Amino acid sequence: MKLQNFIGGQWGTSEDLKFVPVINPANGEELAQVPMSSTGAVEQAVAVAKKAQKNWALVPAPKRADYLYAIGLRMKEKKEHLAQVLTKEMGKVIEEGRGEVQEGIDMAFYMAGEGRRLFGETTPSELANKFAMSVRAPIGVVGLITPWNFPVAIATWKSFPAIVAGNTFIWKPATETPMMAYEMAKIFEEVGLPDGVANVVFGSGSEVGTALIEHPDVKVISFTGSTATGSKVAELGGRHLKKVSLEMGGKNAVIVMDDADLELAVEGILWSAFGTAGQRCTACSRVIVHKDVKAELEERLLTAMQLLTIGDGLDESVKIGPVINKTALHKINSYVELGRQEGAKLLAGGNILTGTPFDQGFYYAPTLFTDVKWDARIAQEEIFGPVVSLIEVESLEEAIEVNNSVQFGLSSSIFTQDINRAFQAQRDLDTGIVYVNAGTTGAEIHLPFGGTKGTGNGHRDSGVAALDVYTEWKSIYIDYSGKLQRAQIDTE
Ligand code: NAD
Repeated sequence: MKLQNFIGGQWGTSEDLKFVPVINPANGEELAQVPMSSTGAVEQAVAVAKKAQKNWALVPAPKRADYLYAIGLRMKEKKEHLAQVLTKEMGKVIEEGRGEVQEGIDMAFYMAGEGRRLFGETTPSELANKFAMSVRAPIGVVGLITPWNFPVAIATWKSFPAIVAGNTFIWKPATETPMMAYEMAKIFEEVGLPDGVANVVFGSGSEVGTALIEHPDVKVISFTGSTATGSKVAELGGRHLKKVSLEMGGKNAVIVMDDADLELAVEGILWSAFGTAGQRCTACSRVIVHKDVKAELEERLLTAMQLLTIGDGLDESVKIGPVINKTALHKINSYVELGRQEGAKLLAGGNILTGTPFDQGFYYAPTLFTDVKWDARIAQEEIFGPVVSLIEVESLEEAIEVNNSVQFGLSSSIFTQDINRAFQAQRDLDTGIVYVNAGTTGAEIHLPFGGTKGTGNGHRDSGVAALDVYTEWKSIYIDYSGKLQRAQIDTE
């Protein structure tokens, strides 16, 4: 199947474009072919999105929200199909595929609710007989650039607040995972979303992504991906005075204190380190452990890791699927090699999996290093695979310092039974998301999602905070005094 762009409610792609195969990372099977669109497709999409936005902004927000309810319902009806497609193209196990689709459904209903809120503020004027208020105004056409590790959820975090607020959008999904974008475009069509409100253009970051950022009629760029790409996006967006929202890499840690429930900590670490084969932006890739429980934690982790089942994510009994492609496999392996050279002690894994059934896909053994120095490269850089480093500390203060030593600031977690330590940690951990007695993953869609430092640039996906990305504040003064009143001057 050759995928087609969805622009202005029409499906189409010029045949002379280059098409790239979409590969199932579990078995190497070709699932579809995705077009590498030219800048012409971006031009076309921006023109229709700009035209559509004028009318869309005039549709009352609760009516715009009705389309989101319809999208949510349709996603619910198609949930199993969507989850299967997601698992095939991205590799995450089917229960996580279902979970990701559910996140999109939840986001649709949550943001639909915002259609009846979109609160502004009224405030007293400093002058008599004058009324003052501020409202959220839509911005225009927004460009969405998304990564492959959450092929649908991240797009819903961005596109649903964008449209409920009265914007139209053009979505460029990652080349590795275009099929969920295609499925979502079908849903936009099925629910009768007005033409041009939602557009999908497939293609490379360098061509389609750049064209979106540079286009004068695209006012907002919302990007999720690596910190390296994000900084390029910010630079180019800055040059063109765009509002740019960036959600980027992570190097997330679980802290295990000497009073922690170790059984719970092991469960939390396994789920957040090896779920999605370690390819979540919030994945745990460091465990900062108190010296008094280090040996026991290592032993418990090793025992639990033996029970992890690895294979094709469509098999319900499998807990860990493949990584996205061969390049990722080799990048992970080279970090493991680096870890060995840096003197870390390898306790488990450390190899590409071979033999049946792994040969056709891209599988990496869940890997555990210990005695890792806090400033080693494997403890500082994003590996984005099933590799965890144990770092020993002597106190809560040291644990927090080690957690905060990385350039990223997405998610962190602490296992402790001491309420005072928990509160100190949630205050001092320098990340956008903090968990107490849970792993580093598991964000809920009605709270802001994003990170500090090298993970973001101050914006947030999800929650009401997402509306800040897709709206401008407009302040409105209504003078009913019948005379010209001059603020700051007529106040005596
Ligand atoms: P990536 O940066 O390689 O690509 C992300 C998107 O940007 C893709 O659609 C890609 O085509 C596009 N792109 C590439 N070059 C571009 C350019 N020059 N201009 C514009 N667009 C360009 O990231 P990836 O490998 O797809 O995803 C993995 C990364 O995403 C990891 O670093 C992970 O931590 C991060 N991530 C972050 C979050 C978060 O919310 N903080 C969530 C998920 C993933």
